[in-house]
Amino acid sequence: MALFPSVSPSMRPAILYPLFAAPTALSGIGPRLAPLLEKAVGPLVVDLLWHLPTGLQDRGRQRFLSEAVPGQIGTFLVQVDRHQPSAHRGRPYLVLCSDQSGALRLTFFHARGDWLQTQLPEGSQRLISGMVEQFRGEVQIAHPDYILPPDRADEIPRFEVSYPLTNGLPAKTLAKASAQARKLAPDLPEWLDPTLLKREQWPGWQAALIAAHSPETLQQLSPESPARQRLAYDELLANQLALALVRLSLKERPGRIIPLDSALRQSLLAALPFPLTGAQMRALAEIDSDLALPSPMLRLLQGDVGSGKTVVAALAMASAVAQGSQAALMAPTEILARQHFNSLKSLLPGLRIAQLTGRDIGKSRQNLLEEIKGGQIDILVGTHALFQETVVFHDLALAVIDEQHRFGVHQRLDLSAKGQAVDLLVMTATPIPRTLMLTAYGDMEVSRLDEKPPGRQAVITRVMPLSKLDAVLEAVARAVAAGAKVFWVCPLIEESESLDLANAEARHLQLSKVLGSRVGLVHGRLKAAAKDAAMAGFSGQSFDILVATTVIEVGVDIPAASVMVIEHAERFGLAQLHQLRGRIGRGTSPASCLLLYGAPLSATARNRLHVLRDSDDGFLIAEADLRLRGAGELLGSRQSGLPNFRLADLEHHNRLLAIARDDAQLVLARDRQLLSPRGQALRTLLYLFQRDAVVQTLRSG
Ligand code: ADP
Ligand code: MG
Repeated sequence: MALFPSVSPSMRPAILYPLFAAPTALSGIGPRLAPLLEKAVGPLVVDLLWHLPTGLQDRGRQRFLSEAVPGQIGTFLVQVDRHQPSAHRGRPYLVLCSDQSGALRLTFFHARGDWLQTQLPEGSQRLISGMVEQFRGEVQIAHPDYILPPDRADEIPRFEVSYPLTNGLPAKTLAKASAQARKLAPDLPEWLDPTLLKREQWPGWQAALIAAHSPETLQQLSPESPARQRLAYDELLANQLALALVRLSLKERPGRIIPLDSALRQSLLAALPFPLTGAQMRALAEIDSDLALPSPMLRLLQGDVGSGKTVVAALAMASAVAQGSQAALMAPTEILARQHFNSLKSLLPGLRIAQLTGRDIGKSRQNLLEEIKGGQIDILVGTHALFQETVVFHDLALAVIDEQHRFGVHQRLDLSAKGQAVDLLVMTATPIPRTLMLTAYGDMEVSRLDEKPPGRQAVITRVMPLSKLDAVLEAVARAVAAGAKVFWVCPLIEESESLDLANAEARHLQLSKVLGSRVGLVHGRLKAAAKDAAMAGFSGQSFDILVATTVIEVGVDIPAASVMVIEHAERFGLAQLHQLRGRIGRGTSPASCLLLYGAPLSATARNRLHVLRDSDDGFLIAEADLRLRGAGELLGSRQSGLPNFRLADLEHHNRLLAIARDDAQLVLARDRQLLSPRGQALRTLLYLFQRDAVVQTLRSG
């Protein structure tokens, strides 16, 4: 049973169809340009609306050529004096012009002389607009953007905006496509609260789009302009409304009471190899009381790497099992699922714990599925394989999702739909700043593990250039000789898993030459069994060094590892580096982390690495990252589950986020099904921002 029916596009209001077409529907966008446009902007016409200009040129006319400023756009009225066709191949065709204050050279490469003669007849007056350059002491414009007779002056726009581009996509093409997209944007019923609209003095949606795309001053281009604020607010409201609807539909399901069995809890605690930290006790108490309530739990357990989330989840799962139900734990990778499986077995020795991953096939899988269905399994651990339709529980009461930023909201809902009244606990190590938390989770209840288990080693972090690789190799060899275990993390290469892999393989080979056979290799392309073998070899006695792509990032717990080398650290997000570094310093020996960067390093990049060198506090690091890079990049685009806002910029629109949250809650308190006229308009807003799935949770109206 899926909680939401699959999304049928026909539910989207017809008035929005043109915006959800492919951009090839626009004139000027053919099969050659469409992929470029998709790369720069997105796959749909509506994406053009969200792709706002970042620059503004003023083509206002200067009175005299003597006012020309090299490096800026200039527009001049000049007299065409003389053509000077190129003397030989490869030289430009020159057209010499002047006004009373000076001279202007127009240069054309590969130009057709006859065409230039008709455009720029000798002796005529012409308006010329283009980028002014200084060439050997002369003012010059190469390939002017506009050449017009004076009576057609109005064809030169006073202001011209520029958009972020992709190589090969002509600016004019993008501008034209964008203008067409705006024409397709219908006049939609207002979804904003009239009081808010009035107080903020924002334009309507359509007017805001037009204004945001055609600024005439730098002020109008800024995120604080009323048009941009309005659009940002729309986006934030859609986000908050969607999250609130998901939350409501989860909360409104029937719940169940999972009481705390104190005797059992005491005996489990007594059997642990360590006492819980105060933070773990507090989080557990919060979870216990949620479970004991008849309404379904929806809680986020947030704790920095190594803060000990697993044991908290394990004890909660034990409560579910104690009353005769089942629990499930889902992890984002097989390595992590296997690790959880092992730790749960040792934390909860009396329970029947099983593991289901993508690799279980055939008869053994069939048997396992039978046992899950029959209730002979208490706790099932696995990857997203747990979502599959064939996985049917006897009575699933508690679902725990680890590191959920790798999963979508959908999946959160899907797993909870696997049982009657499933309580949901989401665990994350991502130190999300509060503002971002709201955008990713809405108003989910949060338990924080803000204290680390005692006895952790501080990790000494050093930042050095890759050019010192030889010295690093020597130091690593020495550390290994002294008994250390070393993670060697290979660089992240944007959008190229195969290059990531090539790098890791090359480094593995090189290290093997120096250190012999005691070097393991693990990466995403390995078969699951080979991955396990590599991890096991490293946590056991076979390997001293594990060369890895970022697959080790999430959650791996190998206490003996005390050294980590990260190549091209500047390519990673700070939060990601923090996660990686959290893999070491879990044991008893002092730990060190080497961040190797490729020179030259920009000032910002250097600052970022220094933040990491100087701090071990995930929250502080995340806040600094946000400051230094902006929200979109916070977690590295690859695995971030944070919404990727197109219009809202949380540095500038933070204030609006809080308003949007309150707004969403108020609206739903009054009109839970969005059936009122404003509610209907808000449905359109949700469609506009592609939150189709949440609209399907509403009664039709
Ligand atoms: P994370 O929050 O990163 O998932 P884990 O649950 O993997 O952290 O725990 C990290 C390590 O700390 C594990 O080896 C675990 O056994 C250990 N640990 C957890 N809680 C405590 C505690 N209260 N005292 C000592 N060690 C603990
Ligand atoms: Mg963990």
